[in-house]
Amino acid sequence: MDLRTHAHDGDRLAQACREAGLKATPQRLAVLKALLISHEHPGPEAVFRQVRGELSSISLATVYKTLDALEGAGLVERVTPLSEGRRYDANRTPHHHLVCTACGRIEDHEDPTLAPILPVDLGGFLARAVRVEVLGSCAGCRRQEQ
Ligand SMILES: [Zn+2]
Ligand SMILES: [Zn+2]
Repeated sequence: MDLRTHAHDGDRLAQACREAGLKATPQRLAVLKALLISHEHPGPEAVFRQVRGELSSISLATVYKTLDALEGAGLVERVTPLSEGRRYDANRTPHHHLVCTACGRIEDHEDPTLAPILPVDLGGFLARAVRVEVLGSCAGCRRQEQ
């Protein structure tokens, strides 16, 4: 089930938190919603800017703690950090990432040809998932390079 289609349904998000073993606090619901709506794989500062409009009392430290809790519960994932900083993803459907090494933009990419038939036994290691991180230049940066 893709929670992103329910991003604006507070009851559904609260239920998802409880099912993941988390109390559904206003902070967690606001941060989860921000991640579900965004397709930018935001970092904590970007999430903070987003949720501050809704929860004016929230602090950046609380956003960090909330992201840790959501990640620990499996509701969001941390995108493999390429350089400095953390980036988060609430898209739980299997997908790859196109990472721009110039501006840091991370786009979702669904391409079945980038993943072999799974699960597959790799000499005793059972492979269940493959995530490909494609490094390069995004369309916007390429335009600026020209
Ligand atoms: Zn770029
Ligand atoms: Zn993603």
